[in-house]
Amino acid sequence: MKLVFLGPPGAGKGTIASQAKTAYSIPHISTGDLFRDNIRRETELGQKVKAILAAGDLVPDEVTIAMVDNRLKEADAAAGFILDGFPRTIAQADALARMTELDKVVNFVLDKETVVRRLSGRRVCKSTGRTYHILYNPPKVEGIDDETGEPLIQRDDDREESVRNRLEVYEASTAPLIDYYRSRGLLVDVDASGSPEEVFEQLKKAISG
Ligand code: AMP
Repeated sequence: MKLVFLGPPGAGKGTIASQAKTAYSIPHISTGDLFRDNIRRETELGQKVKAILAAGDLVPDEVTIAMVDNRLKEADAAAGFILDGFPRTIAQADALARMTELDKVVNFVLDKETVVRRLSGRRVCKSTGRTYHILYNPPKVEGIDDETGEPLIQRDDDREESVRNRLEVYEASTAPLIDYYRSRGLLVDVDASGSPEEVFEQLKKAISG
């Protein structure tokens, strides 16, 4: 199953992807996680993109496309994948179409106010990228990752200033992909306003049809 998860930041794509990857035995490929991993390891790519991520801007297409192209060539992605956070521009979508054929594009639908509320309460485990919400999806022990026991942090770009910019970038560059994929008959809408369990149930129905 080759899936793309589309939707504004904070819609819960990462949370649902980590459930779906187990259920469907396919890797969860998050371009944001790949960039953050490079920043943490201080690679050349990481140094190049660090300030861009902190501001909530988009990494240039050619850099992002090359990274995804390499990742999709790895053996675990041969039978399927969940792409989370890619494509984010029409140029990226065109490039992806040249790399592989998709089964479905899932559009996580969520209003702006809820997005801001979710992002401000989001906490992540730095080493695994697992995400929580202090109210809606809390860890078993406050401030601690359920599996690794590491402390949870707030992402730099979940601060208000970056959040506003990320939403503007989403509207301008990424939202047009909804029509792009709808016109190609690939889009399925999922209401992302419920609990992770509810959204996951909807996802299963949406992609089985
Ligand atoms: P995310 O974790 O998906 O919210 O991504 C975090 C940040 O990584 C974004 O705000 C961008 O700076 C960068 N990023 C992730 N995916 C892409 C992409 N497909 N194209 C450009 N920049 C991206």
